[in-house]
Amino acid sequence: MKGVWNQILKIDLTEKKAAVEHVPDPVYAYFLGGEGLAAWVLWKECPRGVTAFDPANRLTLAAGPMQGIRQSGASKWAVGGISPSIQMNAGSAITHAFGVEMKQAGIDAVVIHGRAAKPVYIVIDDDRVRIKDASRLWGLDAYEAQDAIQEKEGDGFEVITTGQAGERLVRYANIQTAKKSFAGRCGFGAVMGSKLLKGVAVRGTRRCPIHDPAGNDALNKAINRRLAEVDASKPEEFRISWLGTAMATALFAPQGNLPIKNYRLGTFPEGVAKLGGRPYVETLNAKPWPCKYCVIQCHNKCEVKSGPYAYKGKGPEYESFAMMGFNLLIDDQAAVAYAGELANRYSMDTISLGAVLAWAFECYEKGVLTREDTYGIELTWGNAQALVEMTRKIGERAPGLGYLLGEGCKTASERIGQGSEDWAVQMKGQEIAAHNWRAQYISALNYCTGVASGPNHERGNSQHIWVGHRYLPEWGIDHVDNEERWSWEKAAERNAKFHDYCNVINSSVHCKFQEFAGYTLTDLLATINTCTGLAWTQEDLQRCGDRITNLQKLLNLRYGWKREDDFRYPKRFMEPVSDGVAAGRVPVGLEQAIVDYYRYRGWDDDGRPTAQKLSELGMETIPG
Ligand code: SF4
Repeated sequence: MKGVWNQILKIDLTEKKAAVEHVPDPVYAYFLGGEGLAAWVLWKECPRGVTAFDPANRLTLAAGPMQGIRQSGASKWAVGGISPSIQMNAGSAITHAFGVEMKQAGIDAVVIHGRAAKPVYIVIDDDRVRIKDASRLWGLDAYEAQDAIQEKEGDGFEVITTGQAGERLVRYANIQTAKKSFAGRCGFGAVMGSKLLKGVAVRGTRRCPIHDPAGNDALNKAINRRLAEVDASKPEEFRISWLGTAMATALFAPQGNLPIKNYRLGTFPEGVAKLGGRPYVETLNAKPWPCKYCVIQCHNKCEVKSGPYAYKGKGPEYESFAMMGFNLLIDDQAAVAYAGELANRYSMDTISLGAVLAWAFECYEKGVLTREDTYGIELTWGNAQALVEMTRKIGERAPGLGYLLGEGCKTASERIGQGSEDWAVQMKGQEIAAHNWRAQYISALNYCTGVASGPNHERGNSQHIWVGHRYLPEWGIDHVDNEERWSWEKAAERNAKFHDYCNVINSSVHCKFQEFAGYTLTDLLATINTCTGLAWTQEDLQRCGDRITNLQKLLNLRYGWKREDDFRYPKRFMEPVSDGVAAGRVPVGLEQAIVDYYRYRGWDDDGRPTAQKLSELGMETIPG
């Protein structure tokens, strides 16, 4: 097969060994690459009983068939392994150029296992692999570590690192690259920390041959031009190239999709006025900071020039200012951006951090936590300084509450008790992202049934039907009425198709934000075919997504998933808000919708793939 190297680099940190291993074509034809390949690695190498911080856990950094082509969004790549937040298989997508460089080094993935005897970083320079001492980098934040590795190794390397939160095993610690992109969810920074791995640098000089270079080139040019034109044609407040994902505030507020005050309110006018749109650009001096080849450029470089929150660096994404701003009732744009960048430097996922802090703020409001627990910090709604100070306490794993909150709000609420489990907005150990299930019930179904990374808004983003007007006409979702957001009628089918869609995107690997500028499944299929020569139809592509979803489900079962886990959703799911368009709405009927989803997938009523289903997918045995 073209578009892949048929080889992965295996690195054993315990034995200080590296070896290249052949991967046969059927593995790619079944699972493509990226998150699909990472799941396959777990299937092959990580038996039942392995946990996230076990040296036997495989941390896979994986490209797909698209990395190396000049298409907007094709610089994405994937991280996979067993997650310390959900203790199951998971994946997380990240972008900029590390995946492209890895591919140019002649490998489709790096698979890291074992545990180093002392802190190390890995250098991959085409065929040459070295494991180097990182003792002097341990304790640095993620950006400082990136600078130190690049200074030492010289130009041309793309680098990933984790900060102090990764070293200290915060269960939602992330991995960063280029000081602007993050494998944010599922705690893979902590997996790096558990292996005493501070960073990886990669540089490559080879181009992976693709099936139809001329056809692919023409396709890329046409797609890039069209996406840029679509984005430019939008009103300013919806233009990603101007606002990044901050454009989502204007889109989501009228839909009731924002998380507000730990998901207890339906509106927050001050936040809408101050946290999105023009104030985002003006307060933060935001300028586009795109990933390689991207024409719609959602990332922003920002600068707050003065005041207590002065900083220069990454601008907050929608999820960051939604969870750390709206969800804490904080409308100070500079403070939210500053705290977000602080979290980035420590390497903490801002979604989980925002949710964990909202849980703590609610504990404080209800007297479950007091000043004695909070280092004297007033955890009152809207207190921006408390956000900043508590971000530091968690990043440092300060003894007491700071340490506990680094475990996530499931563990924290179980430890603190006093009813606080009721307002811990998490499932399976992972905090819920910034999409309000009351505004579209399908979000709740997605969170409950996700197999790729637990309850994850981007591993089955069926909410995009409403929040982004994203349909999948090639797969039969071509018209949706607004009122259907509160109906279960077609939810099982739509949820399943979006799970599979996310899997083909995250395995090819491509940036999902391109869809906001009109990237389609037709574009995706044509790109995969010109890269690989697979000559797939849409049916084949859908089947590939179905296979990856089923493989992930088999892995869930291996790592201890039980049916009741899907039904143990946050109590807040069934508590209505009293204001906004979703007032009074709760996803009653969710339990039946979960079972309907199992049945739609061809699983039994316990949520297990049936032998017949696996046979239909050719998965009686897994290739490779
Ligand atoms: S849309 Fe954003 S995340 Fe996606 S490739 Fe472009 S800059 Fe990177």
